[in-house]
Amino acid sequence: MTTITLALSKGRIFEETLPLLRAAGIEVLEDPEKSRKLILATNQPNVKVVLVRASDVPTYVQYGGADLGVAGRDVLIEHGLEGMYLPLDLNIARCRMSVATRADFDYAAAVKQGSRIRVATKYTEIARQHFAEKGVHVDLIKLYGSMELAPLTGLADAIVDLVSTGGTLRANKLVEVEQIMDISSRLVVNQAALKLKREPLRQLIDAFASATPK
Ligand code: ATP
Ligand code: MG
Repeated sequence: MTTITLALSKGRIFEETLPLLRAAGIEVLEDPEKSRKLILATNQPNVKVVLVRASDVPTYVQYGGADLGVAGRDVLIEHGLEGMYLPLDLNIARCRMSVATRADFDYAAAVKQGSRIRVATKYTEIARQHFAEKGVHVDLIKLYGSMELAPLTGLADAIVDLVSTGGTLRANKLVEVEQIMDISSRLVVNQAALKLKREPLRQLIDAFASATPK
C-alpha cells in the first residue's frame, strides 16, 4: 500500500483545508486543537496528516518528509520552489501582502525623492524583489512577528506584512500605502513523489481541484 503524507499547519490552513479533504472523501480523525499529536490519522488508512509550522511546509515537501502540503504564496516565495511542483491554487487563506507606514510618514514623497527607506518585515525576499522592481532603495530589517510595532517605535519607516481586513493596522494607527500582491494558499507536491506515487497523488490533486472555491 502506498502511503501519502500531507503537511498542514495548525490554524487557518488546517481549518480551510478540511472541507477540501472532506470533498475528497478524507476525514481527519483527530482535532489538532485538542490533541498534542503531530501525526494525525485519517479515515483512509494510506493517508496521514503531519502538523508543521506554516513556514516549514515547503521544507518538508522539498525533502520528502511529506509528499504534499498546503502553503501560502508568501511562504513559498520566501522559501523558493526547488524540488516542488505547484499544481493548484486552493484559493484559501486569502489576504494580501502590503506596505504600511505611520499616517504621518509620506511614503509617496519618500519614493519620489529617492530616499532610503527602512523597512521591517518577516518577508525579506518578497520585500527585496518588490522594492528592487520599483527601483526604491531600502534597508531591510528582519523581524519574526509584531511588525506593526516597528514604525511606532522608530525601528523602521515602513513594514511589509500580510493584511486581510486591515483591523490590526488600524488598531496600531498604521495605513496601507501599497499593495504588493494577492496571497492565497497552494498545493505543493514533492516532484519525486509525483513520479513514484503518481496514481494516488493524481487522484488527490484532482479531488482537491474539484473542491477548490473559485
Ligand atoms: P507561524 O504562526 O508558524 O509563525 P504564520 O503566522 O505565518 O506562521 P498562520 O498565521 O497560520 O501562520 O498563516 C498561515 C498562512 O495563512 C500564511 O502563510 C498566509 O499565507 C495566510 N495568512 C496569514 N494571515 C492571514 C490572514 N489574516 N488572513 C488570511 N490568510 C492569512
Ligand atoms: Mg500566525
